[in-house]
Amino acid sequence: MTIAFPMPVLFLGHGSPMNALDSNAWSDTWRDLGKRLPPPRAILCISAHWETRGVYVSATPTPETIHDFYGFPKALFDVRYPAPGDPALARRIAALGEDLPIRPDPGRGLDHGSWSVLRVMYPQADIPVLQLSLDTRQAGPWHYALAQRLAPLRDEGVLVVASGDIVHNLGLFRFHAQAAPDWALRFRDEVNRRIRAGDHAALADWQALGADAALAIPTPEHYLPLLYALALQRDDDDLVFFNDDVVSALSMTSLLIGNLADPSAAGD
Ligand code: ZN
Repeated sequence: MTIAFPMPVLFLGHGSPMNALDSNAWSDTWRDLGKRLPPPRAILCISAHWETRGVYVSATPTPETIHDFYGFPKALFDVRYPAPGDPALARRIAALGEDLPIRPDPGRGLDHGSWSVLRVMYPQADIPVLQLSLDTRQAGPWHYALAQRLAPLRDEGVLVVASGDIVHNLGLFRFHAQAAPDWALRFRDEVNRRIRAGDHAALADWQALGADAALAIPTPEHYLPLLYALALQRDDDDLVFFNDDVVSALSMTSLLIGNLADPSAAGD
């Protein structure tokens, strides 16, 4: 019997779109991950920057690069990430939704939540990339249950990359005072502790976590991708935190779920 090697799962704090161009400690880690992870046959990105009514999976063979921001240098608007899509895989993902419908979107391209990290991880842009949208009207446990349906993809060579920011309050972000406020550090620590403890139910019901959560998550779209990564965790997965920094009211905390070494290749 062949035992499939499950692909790891990533949650990436993506921060500013400028991380796509800048070389810094965070993007250096993304570059290193792209070299160390088992080569995926495709990437499914759950990005904070695709919010819809209902759930969609991008299904075009040639996704365009979407520049969904303003006020940044022209060099960022010039970025193209010409990774192919994979319409057949989009149909497969749609079928996994079962009673939680996932509909193929034949026109959707790649937003900066996916390409800002993927162009650093996989600069060749030769791996098919799909995106799954977020129906931000739905509650956390609903997203967690939907994400659990994606579990078979890990055994099919698909790398799930959830891209957001656990602490993301742009209204309180200060470019010139980048020390993190106490509430942001407290919430980062609480979420990390609950991730380590496997307390996914409390993380899915983050509104019950109190005042720090309300400040860290004024709107849910940057937090929800974390639930998609956690929902795919298996009992024998390792958990590795990295880029665990808080800059003003934004956190870069990231998570690798899974094993980087193929256990079936070791020893006997
Ligand atoms: Zn973002």
